[in-house]
Amino acid sequence: MLDPGPTGRFGEFGGRFVPEALVPACLELEAAFASAWADEAFQARRSGLLASYAGRPTPVTECRRLSDRLGVRVLLKREDLAHTGSHKINNVIGQALLAERMGKRRLIAETGAGQHGVATATAAALLGLDCTVFMGEVDVERQALNVFRMRLLGAEVRPVGSGSRTLKDAVNEALRDWVATVGTTHYCLGSVMGPHPYPYMVRQFQRVIGDEARAQCRALLGGSDPDVVVACVGGGSNAAGTFAGFVDTSARLVGVEAAGGAALGNGVPGVVHGMRSMFLQDEEGQILEAQSISAGLDYPGIGPEHAFLAASGRASYFSVGDAEVLDAFKLLAATEGILSALEPAHALAWVARAAQDGGIEAGSTVLVTLSGRGDKDVAQVMDLLG
Ligand SMILES: *Cc1c(COP(=O)(O)O)cnc(C)c1O
Repeated sequence: MLDPGPTGRFGEFGGRFVPEALVPACLELEAAFASAWADEAFQARRSGLLASYAGRPTPVTECRRLSDRLGVRVLLKREDLAHTGSHKINNVIGQALLAERMGKRRLIAETGAGQHGVATATAAALLGLDCTVFMGEVDVERQALNVFRMRLLGAEVRPVGSGSRTLKDAVNEALRDWVATVGTTHYCLGSVMGPHPYPYMVRQFQRVIGDEARAQCRALLGGSDPDVVVACVGGGSNAAGTFAGFVDTSARLVGVEAAGGAALGNGVPGVVHGMRSMFLQDEEGQILEAQSISAGLDYPGIGPEHAFLAASGRASYFSVGDAEVLDAFKLLAATEGILSALEPAHALAWVARAAQDGGIEAGSTVLVTLSGRGDKDVAQVMDLLG
């Protein structure tokens, strides 16, 4: 996909809209990432940990019973099998190694549902770094188990009491901490969002999903690529990492948002959290709360590269509602013996719908990134299904 260059622009989106005090930190990070990415020793260390610690490569699974049911050939890229149960580990291992290389011994992170906080705390424990996670007070209450996990992993969890006391406020607080501690601290951002170089850097750390999947699909499909490549979109990191492996093929790229958090479906352009992108906003430009069955898709914006891919027409984006998501969750469990996280169940829900209404041609091959496992969501699904 695009290299956004020194301005960090993906078309009219992206950029680096930060307080003056953070400009040197962003420039330092950009330079450190460029040098690390080109350094064979860094890449060897990163691939080594992805293999020996995170369990990569994750497999591609052919879903025979689900395919029979839907009339399209479904392949799953199994990020649910990575350590900590989702793709988030790919990004945090990269950023933690980068922090170490920059001589920064403290990681900070924002978290909403707690998944990125847990992943960051995991990488910090692995490399012996200090870790502070910012989390809205409302989320601290809602996600008590993940708060406990982070503390077990040695991280400090700092509840954020400003604004709506959720994810967007946690991002603001993390940025504020970073301004004050930038000499010793790396801000480990959780998705393809924020000021340049984050959207680009996080996509590069996640492109292992798409690069592996492309080779695995070619082996499985006799040298061909899938017809359609589908991933769910919160901030957009698992989708961006997946798309990176296929953007130069003829595969159709589809991102699936939660209906209550559809920043591309219902949002308008704006500048928030250091980037120009699409956001859910009211008439005064205030950011609205995203609402979804799945806490991991609750970000009211979307990464700038997705805004660009949508505007350029290279990828298309759809949204699905909570009821369809629960149906897809149940369908995958019953046909394939896999409990999906609710986030990628959005991608499956779109595939199920499109296979039925002609949105995907019968007999097509569809690769879906299963971004995470469902254990974290089983109690919630039990409540919802009564
Ligand atoms: C966090 C999370 C997401 C959403 O984040 P992206 O940056 O859009 O990938 C999706 N799936 C799972 C399992 C997650 O934990």
